[in-house]
Amino acid sequence: MTSATIERIETRLVDLPTIRPHKLSVATMYGQTLMLVKVYCSDGVTGIGEGTTIAGMAYGPESPEAMKLAIDAYFAPAMIGQDATRIQALMAHLGKLVKVNHFAKCALETALLDAQGKRLGVPVSELLGGRRRERLPVAWTLASGDTSKDIAEAETMLEVRRHKIFKLKIGAKDLKTDIKHVADIKKAVGDRAAVRVDVNMAWSETQAAWAIPALAETGCELIEQPVASPAALARLMRRFPVALMADEILQGPESAFEIAKNEGADVFAIKIEQSGGLFAAQRVATIADAAGIELYGGTMLEGAFSTVASAHLFASFANLQWGTELFGPLLITEEILTTPLDYSNFELTVPGGPGLGIELDEAKIKRFTRDGLMKVTKSSAQ
Ligand SMILES: [Mg+2]
Repeated sequence: MTSATIERIETRLVDLPTIRPHKLSVATMYGQTLMLVKVYCSDGVTGIGEGTTIAGMAYGPESPEAMKLAIDAYFAPAMIGQDATRIQALMAHLGKLVKVNHFAKCALETALLDAQGKRLGVPVSELLGGRRRERLPVAWTLASGDTSKDIAEAETMLEVRRHKIFKLKIGAKDLKTDIKHVADIKKAVGDRAAVRVDVNMAWSETQAAWAIPALAETGCELIEQPVASPAALARLMRRFPVALMADEILQGPESAFEIAKNEGADVFAIKIEQSGGLFAAQRVATIADAAGIELYGGTMLEGAFSTVASAHLFASFANLQWGTELFGPLLITEEILTTPLDYSNFELTVPGGPGLGIELDEAKIKRFTRDGLMKVTKSSAQ
């Protein structure tokens, strides 16, 4: 195998506007911050990885700023001079030095996989066992906060053949208002589209027990993370026939095993960042398959880099019964790639070039980059 060591690691924060406010039960997003990390290797190959969160720290313990700091101060110094081609060994080494920090680890692993793919001339999907599909169905999230605006948005998406699966963000309003919102949207789209909801843990178990049958009645086919507690979700699983999906409680292979053991979900929303990287997400999928739990490719509202990294992984899954929600780049006003991704006919094409198969438009993102580009070199790291 080609030998290449890591020479330099750069991180930066890129603040991008969103096409509209994105309302969740936990927060409203007006923009998205990408933490981009670039790994420079001794053979001249570079790789890019990305970390994002949903609404700063409203969703989880890591923020883009925290990821940048963790990489600059802890990961990068430990990576300089290491073999860039032994990704799993290097990530295991970093795992011993730094606890948790799943999102930062995912960004670094993505960058290393991008570089290794470029080095070997193969797409990242081939480093993950090989793709089983070239295109992935992509759901769209209706989260304007207004029913009629959401219906208009759904109609546009159907008309331009971009999405026919809609996920509604609910949980911030009272139960009856939320259920009417779902019913009105399902009634408007009818059989032309699937409707699902994401409650982002907003309900108590008793609220969920009241709302779930009412949601099933509207024609809603999937309910994502209605409650925060894994035990409550498992109890709800036994009461209702409608599919229940775990998202926030799924934090990598160990949590996946616990949920599977307790028959705690029908579906897993797999996210590469939340899992702690692509290999960890792959293990989550294996646990799901073994337990008969179905799979959905989730998003942390990522920009192009983590979206495409996810796409390479999801393309390699044996099962992907519920499709994906890899629409993150479409929520951002700016195109940050030299060649845009292909979203057409309700699906995303998994890029076919070496590595992630995409190229950052450096000139374009310059004006969105926060001041203070931090460079870690071997000398400064000591
Ligand atoms: Mg979710």
